[in-house]
Amino acid sequence: MAEPVVFPFTSIVGQDDMKRGLLLNVIDPGIGGVLIKGEKGTAKSTAVRSLDRVLPMHEAVKGCPFRCQHGRPERYCPYCRERMERGEALEPEMVRMKVVDLPLSATEDRVSGTLDIERVLKAGEKRFEPGVLAAANGNILYIDEVNLLDDHLVDLILDSAAMGVNYVEREGVSFTHPARFVLVGTMNPEEGDLRPQLLDRFGLSVDVRGERDPKLRAEVVRRRVAFDSDPEAYAAKCQKELDALAERLEGAIALHPSVEAGDDAVDMVVSVMAHFGVDGHRADITLLKAAKANAALEGRSKVDKGDIRRTAELVLSHRLKRRPFEERALDREELEACLGNLRRRSRSPP
Ligand SMILES: [Zn+2]
Repeated sequence: MAEPVVFPFTSIVGQDDMKRGLLLNVIDPGIGGVLIKGEKGTAKSTAVRSLDRVLPMHEAVKGCPFRCQHGRPERYCPYCRERMERGEALEPEMVRMKVVDLPLSATEDRVSGTLDIERVLKAGEKRFEPGVLAAANGNILYIDEVNLLDDHLVDLILDSAAMGVNYVEREGVSFTHPARFVLVGTMNPEEGDLRPQLLDRFGLSVDVRGERDPKLRAEVVRRRVAFDSDPEAYAAKCQKELDALAERLEGAIALHPSVEAGDDAVDMVVSVMAHFGVDGHRADITLLKAAKANAALEGRSKVDKGDIRRTAELVLSHRLKRRPFEERALDREELEACLGNLRRRSRSPP
C-alpha cells in the first residue's frame, strides 16, 4: 500500500520557531530534541511527520539491525563488534534518516526490546528482540501527546537519548546497543503538563500558537483546502521546494563540524543565561550548540549574534519560570537589550 501523502513541510505557513527547532536537531542531534507545545490544530504533528521527506542520508553498516554508523567502531553494537572480531569487512550502506513513531500504548518491553533468557540459558547465545529504541537509532523518535505517556517510559527514553545507548538487563544478562536519536515530543498543554524534571531535559522547546494575522490565517486555509482537494497534485507542485530544503539541510550537515564559535559567541551565551538567571551549564551548552547549528543552517561558518538571538528563546522558554499573565516566558525586548549591552561592552573589533 502506498504511504499516505503528508502535507509538505515547506507549505506550513509561519511557525518559524517550530520548523527551526526541528531542523537544528537534524543538523546536530546533540542539541537534545525538541518539545512542541500547542493547542489542537496548530500543525504540530504535520510538521514532524512532513519532515520525513527532507531528511538526510547517512552511512550505516550493511546488514546491522540497529543500522550502526559505519566507520565508528567504538559505537558498534555487539553484532557488528563480533563480525569485526571475526575479521569480516563491514560494508557501508546509505540509509535515509526517518521519523519513527512511539505509540502511547507501548509497553516498556516494546520500547527497549527484550532478551530471550531461555535461549541464553539453553544455547548460551544472546538473543535480543529489538524494540522502538533500536528502530530509533540514527532517526527521529516521535512521541505525540508525550505528556500522556507514562512518566517512567519518558524517563527511560530521555536517559537513552542522553547516553546514546539502550541498555537492557534481565536476570543478570545484559545487552547494549546504540540508540542515538532526536527526540521530538508534541503535546497540548490543555491536556496536562509534563513534569518539570522532564521538561528541561528536552534541549529545545517551542510554544506554537495559531496564526492571528488575518492574511496569514487566510493563507493557512487556502493551502490546506488546496491540499485536501488533491493531495498528490499539491505535493507534486511542492517537489522543488522540498528538494531545495533537503539540499540545504545536507549542506548544513556537511558544514556543521567546521562552524566556529569564537570567544565572543561563548561570552554572549553565558551572559544571556546569567541575565535570565538560568542555573547549571546544560542550558549554556545547548544554546551554543543550537547557535552553531543555526549558523550551519544559514550557510555561515561562524556563529554570530543573530544565531544566538534566533535560538535563545527555543533554549530558554521551558527553563524560565513563567510570570503570571505573561504569554511568553521570554521577553524578547529584554533579550534584545541584553544582547545590545553586550555589544557596547565588548572590545572594539580589530
Ligand atoms: Zn551494529
